[in-house]
Formats: sequence, structure tokens, C-alpha cells
Amino acid sequence: MSDLILFWHRRDLRISDNTGLAAAKQQSPKVVGVFCLDPNILERDDVAPVKVTYMIGCLQKLQERYAQVGSQLLILHANPVQAIPALAEAMNAKAVFWNWDVEPYSQERDRTVINALKEKGIQFLNQNWDQILNSPEQLRTGSNQPYTVYTPFWKNWITKPKANPVETLQNVEGLTEAEQEIAKLAGALTLPSAKDLGFVWDGELIISPGEVAAQERLEEFTAIAITEYQEQRNFPAVDGTSQLSAALKFGVIGIRTVWQATIEALENSRSEETAVNIRTWQQELAWREFYQHAMYNFPELANGAFRDTFKNFPWQTNEEHFQAWCEGRTGYPIVDAAMRQMNESGWMHNRCRMIVASFLTKDLLINPQLGEKYFMQRLIDGDLSANNGGWQWSASSGMDPKPVRIFNPASQTQKFDPEGEYIRQWVSELRSVDTEYLVTGKIPSLERHAVGYPEPIVDHKIQQQQFKLRYQQQKIVS
Ligand code: FAD
Repeated sequence: MSDLILFWHRRDLRISDNTGLAAAKQQSPKVVGVFCLDPNILERDDVAPVKVTYMIGCLQKLQERYAQVGSQLLILHANPVQAIPALAEAMNAKAVFWNWDVEPYSQERDRTVINALKEKGIQFLNQNWDQILNSPEQLRTGSNQPYTVYTPFWKNWITKPKANPVETLQNVEGLTEAEQEIAKLAGALTLPSAKDLGFVWDGELIISPGEVAAQERLEEFTAIAITEYQEQRNFPAVDGTSQLSAALKFGVIGIRTVWQATIEALENSRSEETAVNIRTWQQELAWREFYQHAMYNFPELANGAFRDTFKNFPWQTNEEHFQAWCEGRTGYPIVDAAMRQMNESGWMHNRCRMIVASFLTKDLLINPQLGEKYFMQRLIDGDLSANNGGWQWSASSGMDPKPVRIFNPASQTQKFDPEGEYIRQWVSELRSVDTEYLVTGKIPSLERHAVGYPEPIVDHKIQQQQFKLRYQQQKIVS
């Protein structure tokens, strides 16, 4: 058996601050990366072309990083359940290492890979929690149950020690030319483009791929914007959030590195006011972690509502309304701006994600699972745990004490886009319409007609009553 350890990258596309990769390097000087383009994932009907384009860009950067430190990243395009053990066997690898994941599909897949490796007598190490700061085992309630409410989770989570970033891979030995030939015979390929894989994204990427770009974005954000985060984060026309979600989804940046940056920002903060802003951003990282723990502890979340009242909720089927929502043609300017932002750029501001999710479920009375899937088909940062958590929060079907949360599109606009700047940016036909009309949503019919903007497809007041009525009825029967 050789010294070779294969490190299987999945949602950790970096060589810095990668716990499993650092553990592999401690075990052997010879570490080679492998990434498997998994048809079980790529052939699903909820994969966003923008996300695959970003991922391929990150893989290209990761190959460059491996080359810089003297090794390689191998690319496979096959079912990992067979392909990873087969590659390890063909390369006569000593072991395969990887980082643990919270998603039900990943866990199932990993169990099968483990069995195949065991059968072949190949060692493995998979118990590194890399994508989160504290493991689900560390976070339990007083009665030793997983948390189902965010605030007590946060209060406990913030007291738990957080690890420092681990060492970047360096001075590593890679494959010889002869070994590279063996890897090719075992399926290693040249990295395909997103188009080769059938995913066409013609727009620009709002986030540059790769760990260097993610690190730069983190530094830029924690130098200034984080100090005003609490005030600025709610305004979709302002660049007030980190836009690190795609990098965090694919692990292009280590979460320990991100956490350390917040600690440094806190140390450098000169006022309590600044510190409050930084802590607010830390709370967002805790939301991310809360939803990942939730998915790990309650994998059934991936299939539908958490709360009984919503398990058989009488959602409406209305294809026309759903299409209008998807395409940003509801006649509600803030909803349409947000949907068009996502369709055109692959990203949507958090405030707007909450507004459009509330609109789909509470105004159109459409099943949140349809919205959740549409988001996955369009977002650069689409992530099962965060997306599912966000949708269940908005639909009131999830782990959340507030039963009926309904956003009024007009008052949301008045608070968070008071000049209609965001609306004008994304709904071009409304650029010349008076701000007063935009923020109240009360655009006269004649004007709508003149600029080619639709009438509202439903009446918010009537629809929210409808929703409440159905909710009350459902509470009785459930
Ligand atoms: P920042 O405000 O800078 O926050 C920093 C990081 O914290 C984010 O990058 C993200 O990783 C995490 N975070 C922030 N807010 C949340 C939150 N509410 N839940 C979980 N993590 C959070 N986020 C995704 O990463 N992927 C999704 O698919 C996704 N779908 C969502 C769907 C709905 C209906 C809602 C309401 C929210 C969703 N979110 C999702 C959460 C949030 O909207 C995005 O993480 C955020 O807008 C990303 O922008 P940012 O990186 O600038 O965030």
C-alpha cells in the first residue's frame, strides 16, 4: 500500500482552513484531492445553472491551488458510491478522507461509500465537522434534545468554544506521471465546463469563484460594511451584506476563518454601537448553523412542513399565479423586483427573499415547496438547509414560535425601499413612475397600462384573510 491519501472534496472547495484536508496532511506527505461530479445531483430538476457555473469556476481555482502546492485535484464524473472506492483501489491509496455533511442524501451516500471502502480494505476518515463551528452533538437543550427554536440555540451556541482556522495545505507530494495515467484509466477527467454539463448561464457571476476571491470579499466586508450591518442589511438597494453565501455553501471559505474575522472586527471596534453590528452578523452565521443542525437532527424537514398544522394544509393550485410570481409579473413592484433580481443575477437580498416567500404562501396561498424548489433552480447560493429553513420560516410551517407571519408588500417597501430605488433597478418599466405610487403599490391603472406593467394579480387584504381562515380551520383539524 502506498502513502497516498485521497481527499474527497464536496462542499469544501479550498485548501485553506479545511479540517479534513489538514488531518490528511498530518497522516501523510502525499495528499491528492478528488471531486466527483455526481449525476444523482446534477440530473435533478432543481439545479441552478448559475450555481453550477460558480462551482465549476471554484473547481478550476482549486485545481490551480493544488498545482501551486505540488499536488493535483482529480475530477470524476460518475456516481461517487462506485467511483470513489474504485479510484482509491486503482491508485492503491492508503486512505480516503472527507468532511462530514448534514444533508440526508450526503449521509446516505457516505454510508454506502464507507461500506465499499471497508470491503476493499481501504481506510477512511469522515468524522471531521468542517462546515459548521459547533457540531450538532455539542448543541442540546437542558433535556438533551436538539433545539427547535433559534433564540435558545443562539444563547447556547455563542457560549461554545470555536476552533481556530487550521493550517493551509502546503509542501505536499502529488502523483507521479505514471500514477496520473492510472488515475485517468480509473476515470479522472479534464474539468468540464458548465455548458459541457448542460448548464447555460450567460449572465455575469455576481461573485468571483475561488478561495482567494472569497477571502478578499470577507476582508472587504469585515473592514467596513460589518460595522454598519445592523442598519444597512435590510435595504435591498444598499450593498450592506457580505454576499458570502455562495462561498459558504460550497465551502470556498472556511467557517473558522470567517468567525476569526468577526472576532478581530470585534477587537478593533471602538464603540458598543459598532460591536452590536458585528454581533448581529455573527447571529446570521448562527442562523446558518441552526438550520444545518436542524437538517441533521430532523432530515424529514427536506420533505415538507415541520409543524402538524401545515402537514396537510389546503394550499391552492394556480399555475398562472405561480408563473406570474416566478417571472416577476404579480403587479406588486417589490415582489417583481426581487424575483427579477434572482432570475437575472442568481442572487436575491434576504429582505426580499422573506417578502416573496410570504407573498407566495400568504397572498397566493401556494405550497411553499414549489417556491423552495424554484429558488433552488435559480440561486447561486441555493442550499438545502438554509433554503428549507427560510421557506419554512416564511410559510410559518417550521421551527418557529410565531404562527402567522404575513408581510405586507407595501409597508415592507415603505420601510426598506422608501425611494423605490431597488424597484427601479430591477423593474425597468417602472423607472419613470412616481415614488409615491411605487412604495404604496397604488399605481393607477392608466399608468400601469401606459408603461406595460400588470395589474395586481390578487388583493393582499382579501388574501391574507383567506390565509388566516384556512390556518384557523386547519389548526382545529390537525
Ligand atoms: P449576510 O447577511 O452577509 O449573512 C452572512 C451569512 O450568514 C450568509 O452568507 C449565510 O451563509 C448566513 N445567513 C444569513 N442569513 C441567513 C438565514 N436567514 N438563514 C441561513 N443562513 C443565513 N441562504 C443560503 O445561503 N442559501 C439559500 O438557499 C437560502 N435560501 C433562503 C430562502 C428564503 C425564503 C429565505 C428567507 C432565506 C434564505 N437564505 C438562504 C438565507 C439568506 O437570505 C441568505 O443567506 C443571505 O441573503 C445571503 O446573503 P449574504 O451572504 O450577503 O448574507
